[in-house]
Formats: sequence, structure tokens, C-alpha cells
Amino acid sequence: MKATETQAAADTPVPYGTARRVYYFGAGPAMLPDAVVRELQQELPDYRGIGISILEMNHRSDTFQKITEQAEADLRGLMLIPDEYAVLFLHGGAALQFAMAPLNLLGDRSSANYVNTGYWSVRAMREAERLCSVHVAADAGACGYQGIPPREQWQLDKAGAYLHYTVNETIGGVEFHWLPDPQGLPLVADMTSMILSRPVDVPRHALIYAAAQKNLGIAGLTLVIVRRDVLHDVPADTPSMLDYREHIRARSLLNTPPVFAWYVAAKMLTWLKEQGGIAAMAARNQHKAGILYELLDGSGLYRNQVERACRSWMNVPFRLAEQRLETVFLQQATAAGFVGLAGHRSVGGIRASLYNAMPEAGVHALAEFMREFERTRA
Ligand code: PMP
Repeated sequence: MKATETQAAADTPVPYGTARRVYYFGAGPAMLPDAVVRELQQELPDYRGIGISILEMNHRSDTFQKITEQAEADLRGLMLIPDEYAVLFLHGGAALQFAMAPLNLLGDRSSANYVNTGYWSVRAMREAERLCSVHVAADAGACGYQGIPPREQWQLDKAGAYLHYTVNETIGGVEFHWLPDPQGLPLVADMTSMILSRPVDVPRHALIYAAAQKNLGIAGLTLVIVRRDVLHDVPADTPSMLDYREHIRARSLLNTPPVFAWYVAAKMLTWLKEQGGIAAMAARNQHKAGILYELLDGSGLYRNQVERACRSWMNVPFRLAEQRLETVFLQQATAAGFVGLAGHRSVGGIRASLYNAMPEAGVHALAEFMREFERTRA
């Protein structure tokens, strides 16, 4: 092909409908629903006849304000968020919240309680340790992060400012299916890899945060839900971008927000409503995960060692008998259209992430591929 022809080909838009889409099992950024990607494409060159795309739009324009107001209303409706909670759409990822939580909640306390259930809890603790002393109220390290210590064994430091837990460990595949009792302390939750996947009891929490790139769209946006009354003691010299009260005052527009990511989140929330809301999603997610766990438990080749009661509905990690086989598995899976299955670089193995956007058909197809892979090796 000549250069001019190549250019012409590049200029010809490829209709989304003809693009080859695979089942993408990556842990995040993660798969979006086809319907959402299609709508993003349709609205891109010209957002609803105004002559510019969302990528070029001013964050204080009436058009964008309508999008963000709808997003907040939809989120409040879906998660049943009471009025005394502020909802913020911020930058900086969940990793910034590892610092913002203690910065805003410590007040005059010098310690905070953390539950250690794996990699992301540890990351949250390491960051908090820069600001206060961390009391580990329960530690799953002793059981190799295969479960959650029973609540009778937890020991809270009552002088601590709050209790922090990671609802779903994205790497280890360990998820809380029960609510920790903070014994009167404010409860803080990292919901990054399970937000909107099942109902959560918002009023039992003081602060919830979640990066968006799994169940709420794309990277660049972080959701914060915070009860206003826990913000009475934020030090006056806290830098404004790290101060929840400033973000609340500015309605998340303290500076230029991640406009596109916020807009994608709005689309995801509309899609979720169309799917029947969070309870409907939860039933589907439990069912999808069950398909894989049943296969793993009945297999002589694959194994998942997480205690059954703490198994994640969102991230299903598993190993094969030998590392060499895992490499072959990943190669063949990718060739068959099951992409993004490599485990986190810190642990290796395989991990299937089954966020809201993964259709049940994708999980059935993966299970069929896994059975066939096992059969051919028997
Ligand atoms: N917490 C959890 C549970 C996560 O899974 C992740 C990212 N995978 C993070 C925090 C960090 O999120 P970010 O990269 O957006 O800072």
C-alpha cells in the first residue's frame, strides 16, 4: 500500500461494530460494557449537536454540569447514599486516598487501626505510617492471606482515629462478605475493586473510596463518599487539594477535573441502572464467580486456596500445578480470545477479573476453555 493510501485508510473511521472485541479479564483498567463503548464512540466527535466533543469541553459548562449532577444523583440512588454524606469525584487514584484518609480523619489522634488482608491493605498501611502509627487490628499474613481472621480475634486500639479495611483484595482474591465492627470508631473502606458490584451498607461507614477503573469506568477518577460530620478536625494547614472539605465546598471542581473519566462514570451509572441496579448486579456477579470456583474445586489441575467464605466475586486467582503449564495456559488462552488473565506481577499465576462488565457468556466460554485445556493434559 502506498503512503497516500495508508493515510486514506487511517482516516476512514472503523465502525465500532466491526472491531474485534475479546473477553478481557484484566484487573484494571478493566473491560467496559460494549454498549457503553459504543455510546462513547457515537458521542465523541460531536456531543449531542453542540459541535465539540466531551474531550474538549469546559468543566464548568452547563452541559458538563448536567452530566455530573446526573452522575451524582444516579450514584446516590444506586448506593442509597444518605444526604449527610458528600460524594466527591477526584483525581489521584485510590493510592492518594491512602494518604487523604489519615490526613483528614486523624484529628488529634496519633494512631489508626488497619486490617491486613493482603497487598492493598499493606499499601494503605505503608502510606498511613508516614502520618501516624498504624495498629494492625487483624492480620491475615499469618495464614498466607488465604482468609480473614475471625472477628473474635480482632484487637482494636480504641484510641485510634478509625478502622480501615480493604473490602476486596484485587490481587489475592480475598473479599469481605460481612461488615467489620469498628466498635464505635469511624469505619473506612477501600472499595476500589468491588464498588457497585453488590449492595453495601453506606451508613455504617464514615469514608468510602474507590478508583474508577474497574466497575466505574476508566482510570483518572476516584470516588469518595464521606460523612460530613467526621471532618470536624482537619488541620487548618492541610493543603487544599488534600482536604475533603475544600473539595466538598468546590463540588469537586477545586481544579480541572478528569472530565472524560467523569463522563464515562456517568455512562456506567446509567448502564447499571438499565441492568436493574446493584442487587441485580450482585446476583449476576455471585453466579459468574460461582461458575469458576465450582470448576476450580472440581479440578485436578487448577487450584484456588482462598477460604470459601472469603472468596472474591470480582477477582478469581488460581494456579496450575507447574509454572511452565501456566505459561502455556496463558498463551493458549490469549490465542483463543481470553485476554488479560496473567496474575499480578507480585504473585504470578492466573487471575480472572469478573467485574460488572464481564458478561456471563464470557465466564462460561472461559470455563469451557479451561475444561478443554485440562482434558487435553489428562
Ligand atoms: N486499592 C485496591 C483494592 C486496588 O485494587 C487498587 C488498584 N488496583 C488500588 C487501591 C490503587 O488504585 P490506583 O492505582 O487507582 O491508585
